[in-house]
Amino acid sequence: MTFALHGIAVSKGIAIGKAVLISRAALEVSHYLIEAGKEDAEAKKLLDAFEQVRLELAQLRQGLPKDAPQEMAAFLDVHGMILADPALAEKPLKLIRTQRLNAAWALTTELNDLLEQFSEIEDAYLKERANDIRQVAERVLKALNAQKKDALSDSELLSPSDVGVDAIIVAHDIAPHDMLRFKEHAFTGFVTDLGGKTSHTAIVARSMEIPAVVGVRHASEMIRHGDWLVIDGEHGVVVVAPDEQLLSEYRLLQEQATQETRKLQELKHSRTSTVDHVAIELLANIELPEDATQAVELGAIGVGLFRSEFLFMDRKQALPDEEQQYQEYRRVVDLMHGLPVNIRTIDVGADKALGSGSDLSETGTSPLGLRAIRWSLTEPEIFLTQLRAILRASAHGQARIMIPMLAHVKEIDETLRLIEKAKQQLHQRGQAFNPNIQVGAMIEIPAAALVLPLFINRFDFLSIGTNDLIQYTLAIDRADHAVAHLYDPYHPAILNLLFSIIDQAKRANIPVAVCGEMAGDPSMTRLLLGLGLTDFSMHFSQLLLVKREILKADVSLLRSRIGAVLKAIEPAEQAEALEKLLS
Ligand code: PEP
Ligand code: MG
Repeated sequence: MTFALHGIAVSKGIAIGKAVLISRAALEVSHYLIEAGKEDAEAKKLLDAFEQVRLELAQLRQGLPKDAPQEMAAFLDVHGMILADPALAEKPLKLIRTQRLNAAWALTTELNDLLEQFSEIEDAYLKERANDIRQVAERVLKALNAQKKDALSDSELLSPSDVGVDAIIVAHDIAPHDMLRFKEHAFTGFVTDLGGKTSHTAIVARSMEIPAVVGVRHASEMIRHGDWLVIDGEHGVVVVAPDEQLLSEYRLLQEQATQETRKLQELKHSRTSTVDHVAIELLANIELPEDATQAVELGAIGVGLFRSEFLFMDRKQALPDEEQQYQEYRRVVDLMHGLPVNIRTIDVGADKALGSGSDLSETGTSPLGLRAIRWSLTEPEIFLTQLRAILRASAHGQARIMIPMLAHVKEIDETLRLIEKAKQQLHQRGQAFNPNIQVGAMIEIPAAALVLPLFINRFDFLSIGTNDLIQYTLAIDRADHAVAHLYDPYHPAILNLLFSIIDQAKRANIPVAVCGEMAGDPSMTRLLLGLGLTDFSMHFSQLLLVKREILKADVSLLRSRIGAVLKAIEPAEQAEALEKLLS
């Protein structure tokens, strides 16, 4: 039966394909479909892993010293019993045989189901058994991973060709760095239960130019593995089991979108200036060094935001050392051929978890917690390592340092002190760097916007992070779908704040850009031009769409009409002023 689910549109376009459900635990293990005919061999792998764990537990039990606490033996007995219960292997074996899931994926799918059932139990003793089941399953997963043949690399993750048709990922939630891992696998769409329009997962989905809808609440429960889906990334709609007529209508829309993209390419080489000859700078936001190639190809005149934290977020790897970071930063600098590259220092915390740097202080998971520069200043050695790597890259081109989430003078002072220290360390080592490297601040906390002269006096450039500026001004978590409807870039407080920042920076002659998602939204281009913005930084996939708007805009006209928009605080009044501005 055809039905539609609604969520938040984050990445436009239409995707048509079959659902591939990814469980939370399954994100941590390799997941792929096994070849037809290999079901028995895969089932044997699972049974072998069970047997191996049975032997391990028996050995542990036997080897217990005489004075070991009694609980130890009881604990191993419970684990032995869980393992011996045929029910634990039964469903995964069925998943292997009927759906051709690989053994680890099948086991984690079953584990998730069991854990969910246990979470509904009130009894504390039984609830505790959930942990035992998890531990046993994890032992089996470890044994599976140890089997050479199952030790899959990322490149062996499920790929669309395995499914035989275009595949659409459906998940409860996807962490930003997991999303990035999917980049190499060319899925045609994403649907998640959680997430907001400017959550980092949404930003990465957009950067992959893949239609995505987030915040669809119960999608991962209502959609079944293998269901046909249409994702309308423009309107935030997911159609499950579409009929033939709907399918052909969506295919037509898909075709129209492809033609429009082709037509846009004609703008690649034209100058970026308005009808009244105001030159506008278009820069790119990137998450991975290799994205720089496409940024240049599409006419970006620099990288306005390199989100360096994506180098630090891979769960499986230790944090990159100075040399590794230097190589990555240098790669971007080289690819940009002398154009500026703003390397934003690590911004982990909130919805971006850190990788496996075991003994590091925890980042905060709240957007108000230990995030970005706050975290870097609690880990000065890691921060200095990153600063040295950026400085070394500055010997090869225009690498610049950009600091996220500053609000306090003492944070600014400490940051600038550490930059000087990093320079001294390189000097002592005799390593090359640009001593006059430019240092910029992101303005993304309202407090910073309200004391802008402090920043103007201490930095070489400013970049407004509207994603966070909106989040913190309106007090809504940008990753929480429950308050997504309150995420409003048109709120008069936001527009006035933006105007004030841009105006003060222009008067002080300090470069100012916007690098939040607003800059890449073509429906906002004329508004931002009216607010006085001339430097826009966005994901490269948006460059030509925004350029098209700029080529049609008349800045002097927009500037003459912006006053009425800023003054309007009543919704009807604002709507009228905006309509006049954009007409
Ligand atoms: C922003 O906050 O607008 C920004 C560009 O940074 P991020 O989205 O990475 O927080
Ligand atoms: Mg930010």
